[in-house]
Amino acid sequence: MAQNHPKSSSFAFLSTFKSIFIHNPSKKSSTITQTQLTLLSRTDPEYEIIKNLFAITPKIHVIVKLKMPTKLENKHEKYKRFLVKYSARNINTVTYKMFHGTKRWRSCDLLMFNDQGVDIKKENETPRYCQNQCGLCGILQQGNRKKCSRSRKKMWFAQDANTSLNYCTYGTKTKVMFVIDCLTKTPPLNVFVTGKEKATLPRYLIIFDDPYYFPVNSTN
Ligand SMILES: [Zn+2]
Repeated sequence: MAQNHPKSSSFAFLSTFKSIFIHNPSKKSSTITQTQLTLLSRTDPEYEIIKNLFAITPKIHVIVKLKMPTKLENKHEKYKRFLVKYSARNINTVTYKMFHGTKRWRSCDLLMFNDQGVDIKKENETPRYCQNQCGLCGILQQGNRKKCSRSRKKMWFAQDANTSLNYCTYGTKTKVMFVIDCLTKTPPLNVFVTGKEKATLPRYLIIFDDPYYFPVNSTN
């Protein structure tokens, strides 16, 4: 951390992440069918870790911690165990935190902007997700899916959040980006491309202002 070297530092975070999750076994055995979203406090150590990993230095509105449906989590964990066994590596060296920029549907009603930043709109404790057309709501509910990718066969993830920025909604100031646990026995070089949905699991959602955004014209 003393050296300003983004590539090596992003990997160095993995051991820190691990220790955090191991010490939080509270919901280990409960089964959930809908993604749980938790806004992280700015004083939460996890907030600081994700913010540093993100490293774009924009205005971050909120970081949301995600607990995906148990069905998806179990598939991911099972594949992780398979990779560890197959590649003779340990869990830390098959799991990489990568970024995934996505689009928010123009009429998406999930995020509520207020003086405190951004909140998640809910009805009876259920987030107000879009039914379709919205990358944000789709990934939050079902994780990354091949059929929703540009190629419909492969999904792309980047080590550098700046790369993922190109895949966020164009022409809007406030953007959304996911932090995804990606499983691979070969350490990714900048980008990880996979056709396996179980190799990916969303862990965090970052809602932020694009530092490179400027209004193109006044008609929109
Ligand atoms: Zn939406």
